Amino acid sequence: MKWEDLRRSKNVEDRRGQGRSSLGGGMGSGRSGGMGSNLIMMLLMSKGKFKWVLIGILLIFLLGGGSSLLGGNQSPNQTYDDSGVVFEDATEKAGSDSQITDKEGQFLSTVLASTEDYWTSKFEEYNLVYKKPKLVLYTEGTMTGGCGFGQSSAGPFYCPGDQSVYIDVSFYRELANKYGAPGDFAMAYVLSHEVGHHVQQLLGTMDDYQKIAQQNPGAKNELTVRLELQADYYAGAWARYADEQGILDEGDIEEALQAAFSVGDDTLQKESLGYVVPDSFTHGTSKQRQEWFARGYKHAGDFQEADTFNRDI
Ligand SMILES: [Zn+2]
Repeated sequence: MKWEDLRRSKNVEDRRGQGRSSLGGGMGSGRSGGMGSNLIMMLLMSKGKFKWVLIGILLIFLLGGGSSLLGGNQSPNQTYDDSGVVFEDATEKAGSDSQITDKEGQFLSTVLASTEDYWTSKFEEYNLVYKKPKLVLYTEGTMTGGCGFGQSSAGPFYCPGDQSVYIDVSFYRELANKYGAPGDFAMAYVLSHEVGHHVQQLLGTMDDYQKIAQQNPGAKNELTVRLELQADYYAGAWARYADEQGILDEGDIEEALQAAFSVGDDTLQKESLGYVVPDSFTHGTSKQRQEWFARGYKHAGDFQEADTFNRDI
């Protein structure tokens, strides 16, 4: 992808290097959540005689004082329950990408910016407003605003609660080395797929999915496959836009198709690590994933064509 000279998104938060203690930032409103939880962590790690008393007092203060502070930290079972968690205007509040100097981080903020441009204009066509998601770059694990503690072992994911995409950039290398899907556009596919989940969140598809899956648990896996294939469709739609912008290199679409193949259920060995996000469940076969990416590319964001819930998959 010819990305170096393109616009970078400002909606990127870099939490890399904070490791497993990075509890701040993702909780509640994202502005006031960090300090309380960090204090608890510090107390937990301290050896003082009265530390449990202090933790108790702090918890009472936190629970009583600010509903948004811990409100976003839901149990893993409530992954999609984003009620009460309002992420206020990610566009203005997210950190600037100016601190991001590494190539992988810059690449991802460029791809994110391109998806912002595409989906903003696509939504405008339908008289809708596209609210831009946030991209959180992290290492190992980090707290999310509504999806519990995110771990990189679960792969990149989208959290509806704080409308953020979480990516450990080491997945870039994993794609190439472990899943046999090298190339920058393989990673662009991954990010644009997660942005596809954000589109589903904005359009209400995510809520519908959650409601129906709750009413009918037996159908949950199949519904999840349909949700995932639709996100692949949206990734393909963005890829078509990127192609029309003239920013793709020869072989980029093949890289995305290879990545879609590599992360199909029948190709991927499922891990069992206490997943908290949609990507942890069923995604469809390699063939289905490639096909729906290709359909998105072909039909370029026609929302009717994207209706995986009412079509043969
Ligand atoms: Zn997904």
